Amino acid sequence: ASTVPSSSFKYEDLEVTLTNTPQPKPDDNNLIFGHHFSDHMLTVDWTAQTGWSKPVIHPVEEMRIHPAAKVLHYAVELFEGVKAYRCEDGKVRVFRPMENMKRMRSTAERSALPDFDGDELCKCIKKLISIDSAWVPRSDRCSLYIRPTFIGTEPTLGVVKSNAAKLFVLIGPVGPYYPTGFKPVTLLADPQYVRAWPGGCGAYKMGANYAPTIQIQDTAVKEEGCQQVLWLYGEDHMMTEVGTMNLFVYLINEKGEEELVTPPLNGLILPGVTRKSLLELAREWNEFKVSERDIKMKEFVKALNERRIKEVFGAGTACLVSPVEGIKYQGQHLVIPTMETAVLTNRFNNILMDIQYGRTPHRWMEPV
Ligand code: PMP
Repeated sequence: ASTVPSSSFKYEDLEVTLTNTPQPKPDDNNLIFGHHFSDHMLTVDWTAQTGWSKPVIHPVEEMRIHPAAKVLHYAVELFEGVKAYRCEDGKVRVFRPMENMKRMRSTAERSALPDFDGDELCKCIKKLISIDSAWVPRSDRCSLYIRPTFIGTEPTLGVVKSNAAKLFVLIGPVGPYYPTGFKPVTLLADPQYVRAWPGGCGAYKMGANYAPTIQIQDTAVKEEGCQQVLWLYGEDHMMTEVGTMNLFVYLINEKGEEELVTPPLNGLILPGVTRKSLLELAREWNEFKVSERDIKMKEFVKALNERRIKEVFGAGTACLVSPVEGIKYQGQHLVIPTMETAVLTNRFNNILMDIQYGRTPHRWMEPV
């Protein structure tokens, strides 16, 4: 899906119907993630017979789909997560949205959903944000979360390609992930649970990857006293991802070099936009070795015992970076010294926040 698609909806065909009943906006200090939506949404329908219809911005409303719709039976669904920020100059900017458009098109291809022009979708999303720009929080701790979604709506049973689809985008204000500063997390690493495997769909952002993780995450929290799951894979317990974040380990390797390690994009890992951004920053600094390579629990525990693990953190759109202070693994409670200095964790966090809130102007931020 890297080339230009053969057909797409177009921004220039966008139709807008504004609400007559704008909703009151929530207080920036009481935002719960995913609970608040702005007044408008974007919808684009597709059918195999007629192709893409015109994109429409309209008041947020419940939608009607047939109970046989493929999304409800075979989970023909995918989504994205992007954020827009109110920058220091008062303008609203989006963080690297074309990276999400690219990932969305590649997930659509894997889901047998139709292709579209990412640039056209991005322009429609920016228009939606500008219409509801009063919903972008003014605090430099909050942001606007953007949730593009794509579902198969053909109203027939049968595990075949959906001949009808609906793409829609919701936006809404979200609060800081850490209202009172960094709170390091403890991870449950239980090799009996696997998130993704070779030939599977771990590299795509489809809903079907997330439903099976909810119960494990719930057990980690309620029964194991952990906050997140560390997903392992294979006989040698390769470390893959942390909850819905990419994993980073900052260590002194066997050769005595400082090294930042994140697992490679081998099909098991979601190609995170935050991951890509941290790798680009670290490579630009050129101060330590930066590796996309496998890291197995055996190597990790050995390095930890030899006091060579410096910091472990997750990285994703929701939290930016999330420091790890412990891992529960095969009856052991591994204590990770991330917060002893958290030099790199803090550095990444501060630099990304300075970029996102416009304190450091950067090409990654696109005006709406
Ligand atoms: N891994 C998984 C499984 C995720 O769901 C996410 C969130 N999209 C990430 C990593 C981080 O990706 P991003 O930096 O693009 O938010």
